[in-house]
Amino acid sequence: PTARVLVSACLLGGRVRFDGRAKTVCDTILDRWRAEGRVVAHCPEVAGGLPVPRPPAEIEPGGSAEDVLAGAARILTPEGADVTAYFVAGARAALETARGRGVRTAVLKESSPSCGLLRVYDGTFSGRTAPGPGVTTQLLRDHGIAVFAETDLAGADAHLRAQDG
Ligand code: SF4
Repeated sequence: PTARVLVSACLLGGRVRFDGRAKTVCDTILDRWRAEGRVVAHCPEVAGGLPVPRPPAEIEPGGSAEDVLAGAARILTPEGADVTAYFVAGARAALETARGRGVRTAVLKESSPSCGLLRVYDGTFSGRTAPGPGVTTQLLRDHGIAVFAETDLAGADAHLRAQDG
């Protein structure tokens, strides 16, 4: 069978970001995946119950996605509202969707507290980032799903095609 890939909905043109906008990526690899029926769109934050638009949110300073999933760090808005439960629910929903569709590969939006791969905002709402994945990326990886940033579609494509049976 043709392997499927979970993709952050905002990269596919979904206006699901906190500010009500998309972060659309235009790329021939994505176009081919679409034509091949491989793409499973998912927005963890919307799936977790957050509205569009919504306040920005960041993992609290010094905390990691691993800490969040272990209940040892929170995700907060600039006003200090605790939105951790939505982010954890969204990560679980992403994992459930991936498992349900047999997905072993994901392309997620860099720097997001949910979807980030190498960096996330550092919790100070100053635009600075710190190393580390987002909560959904962490949970998918913990369950053996390979996660790529939107800047590495070629890498994701190679991994994806290797899953074709
Ligand atoms: Fe995009 Fe992920 Fe943020 Fe949803 S949670 S808007 S898919 S980066």
